[in-house]
Amino acid sequence: MPPIDTAKRILQSYSGPPLRLMEVCGTHTHAIFRYGIRTLLPPSITLISGPGCPVCVTPTAYIDEAIYLAEHGVTLTTFGDLLRVPGTSETLADARSHGANICIVYTPLDAVEYAKNHPDEPVTFLSVGFETTTPASCLAVAEAQKQGVSNFTLLTANKTMDAAYLAMADACDAYLYPGHVCAITGARVPRALTERGISGAVTGFTPSELLTSLAALAKNYQDDPKRPFFLNAYPRVVTEQGSPAAQRLLNTYMEPEDTEWRGLGILPQSGLRLRPAYARYDARHIHHIPPQKGHPNPACRCGNILRGAITPPSCPLFRKTCTPDHPVGACMVSREGTCAAWYQYA
Ligand code: SF4
Repeated sequence: MPPIDTAKRILQSYSGPPLRLMEVCGTHTHAIFRYGIRTLLPPSITLISGPGCPVCVTPTAYIDEAIYLAEHGVTLTTFGDLLRVPGTSETLADARSHGANICIVYTPLDAVEYAKNHPDEPVTFLSVGFETTTPASCLAVAEAQKQGVSNFTLLTANKTMDAAYLAMADACDAYLYPGHVCAITGARVPRALTERGISGAVTGFTPSELLTSLAALAKNYQDDPKRPFFLNAYPRVVTEQGSPAAQRLLNTYMEPEDTEWRGLGILPQSGLRLRPAYARYDARHIHHIPPQKGHPNPACRCGNILRGAITPPSCPLFRKTCTPDHPVGACMVSREGTCAAWYQYA
């Protein structure tokens, strides 16, 4: 890879056709803002923020399912971000203030521990995440099984990224692929997308990694905009095959299903649910949750933002009624959310 000054020079002398690059991962979005990388790009290169935050793409109906459980005597265990994501009529934080038992945990194994220590409570972990965090939920099921913890379940909203890459291919000319997801799946997953005409580079999170990857993307596109390409610009972490141990865990406990993404609709086989052999750990199976339709605030533009169709200032609520202290939509709640990034840095 070129050193950082060379990367800057390549970007600033870019002479190819207009280039739209989508950073799929919210951590990239925040890092790019934080390091001022947007200011180094010429006007012909546009950065678009995609749906790279699992909390952001989790649909309103999922929050409604969780609230249904909480209202029916189930103790919820969750990471903190989800608490403030609006459901149709309230957030989990609202439900907690009305008496629902909702505990913040730091890992899914904490949730198993909680269930073990409270055998009279049905306990559900809100399992939201991409390939990076899903193996930890699988480990929690394995641990519950090993320790005979029978009051523990998962409410799954786990997703895999490859269907989203395909769904948003028209919104950009090349992707900046998330390094941590590719560390699990392996570079072979995004590399295979070149056969579908999709280009991109997997990269890390330092200023130097981001800049050199953007420069390499620009250089490749300038050389031949019609030839799909893939670059692994994060080889110190991402191997071709990824993590066999994590993939094994995932494949043992979970299977693909069609699932809804906020803003993208239902993407075939992009979700993960527990396999029938582990149905006793599936909250939907155990607690018979009725289907929830989920109605987000109609004024919120998260759907368009997650598709890269608009930027947050185009939302009429941005910085007015919607702020990190009073988020109206998921993209302002999450620490990795696009609206939160624009609020903080733009
Ligand atoms: Fe939704 Fe708030 Fe973002 Fe507007 S600014 S799209 S209301 S999260």
